[in-house]
Amino acid sequence: MVNECINYLCKKYIIVTFEELNLNTPLLNAIDDIGFIQPTPIQVQAFPAIMSGKDVIGIAQTGTGKTFAYLMPILRQLKYSEKKHPRILIMVPTRELVIQTVAEIEKLAKYMDLRFGGVYGGTNIKTQGQNVYNGIDILVATPGRLIDLVMTGVLRIKTVYQVVIDEVDEMLNLGFRHQLINVLELLPQRRQNLMFSATLSADVEELINDFFYEPLKIEIVERGSPLEKIEQIVYHLPNFNTKVNLLELFLKERDDMQKILVFVGNKKLADRLHVTIGMRFPGDITVIHSNKAQNTRINAIKRFESGENRVLIATDIAGRGLDFANVSHVINFDTPNVPGDYIHRIGRTGRADKEGTAITFVNEAEMEYQTAIEKFMRKEIKVEALPEHLKISELFTEDEKPVLFDKNYLKEATIKHSQGAYHEKTEKNL
Ligand code: ADP
Ligand code: MG
Repeated sequence: MVNECINYLCKKYIIVTFEELNLNTPLLNAIDDIGFIQPTPIQVQAFPAIMSGKDVIGIAQTGTGKTFAYLMPILRQLKYSEKKHPRILIMVPTRELVIQTVAEIEKLAKYMDLRFGGVYGGTNIKTQGQNVYNGIDILVATPGRLIDLVMTGVLRIKTVYQVVIDEVDEMLNLGFRHQLINVLELLPQRRQNLMFSATLSADVEELINDFFYEPLKIEIVERGSPLEKIEQIVYHLPNFNTKVNLLELFLKERDDMQKILVFVGNKKLADRLHVTIGMRFPGDITVIHSNKAQNTRINAIKRFESGENRVLIATDIAGRGLDFANVSHVINFDTPNVPGDYIHRIGRTGRADKEGTAITFVNEAEMEYQTAIEKFMRKEIKVEALPEHLKISELFTEDEKPVLFDKNYLKEATIKHSQGAYHEKTEKNL
């Protein structure tokens, strides 16, 4: 695995086990408890780079273990202290990621005497302020809430000497550039900057140029990448109702679909789908999106993670970066209009060394998105024939109607021969 390294660090450090990473006993014991056998390539390379004290940029695909790539060296260097204000700041784009990152720290710091916690918007700022005020070593935060806490004077960040900007591409996609820059400007001049991302866009580069000093760049060019372990399939379906019918059929007939993450583009669709399918499978389905109260969302995530609920319906934003063990299937109930969203969605399955399946439901209007995704991946997605006994609905929802009527979509013939008709179109577009 180390042969794929592309910078000088690899030649210098041929490391393949956690022991050889120069971790200490508390960390090795924690990793032993977690059960990881070998560090991933980004972990191998980020460790000595971060330990060197220089600014570091780590680029590796989703699901390659970037969180531990920065947590291991940070915890390795962190000494016990009674200082009140945080020394390490980790910024992530969403509340869910704050919670998840804090949970990862908890596992890795199990045998260390450390204070850590997370802050995020949408919950009582006083309570969160209180947690911080009691003294903290590592703070995980979304940029907005962080600024609020600094502005109210509860939190001081002049003591931070290491800052991590995680999932930075997402952070910029979600429009946090301004807040991010605000935070960076509030930090002390002397500090180590660490940044992790799945992609290195022009936006990200700009941020690096403005705030990083002679960074070491680690880029893992993946072979046998997580995406290759994911089987990708599309079904061409005429409308919402038929998509629901197919999902229902899967839930009834497919025992291999153990843990299903269903993605939809917006809250409204998430709720509509939850109501429609939830009635048919009471107790099996749960949902998260940004309008749900924080507790509801945390509970939904817990129930899905533990297997109590077989299906979690999530919007792109609520599902960002979320990491669940053993998701057997990702179902894209709608087709993302941005290829990057597709990659992020399907990256929720096939994590670490597991296999997974990603199924995408595509209606006629979404055909062009499928084409864009295929171009982006330089790979065609297999079109699966519809099951014979699938009920094809001729009812269109209000949202579907205007566009579809324009295209004479309801004509009998189109629906009956949908497979062929769609297929021709894909080929033509390609
Ligand atoms: P990324 O941030 O690159 O998308 P994460 O840090 O969320 O990836 O890690 C993805 C999954 O891989 C998590 O479930 C994590 O616990 C697991 N993981 C991390 N490091 C290892 C490792 N060395 N061996 C096996 N699994 C790992
Ligand atoms: Mg990550």
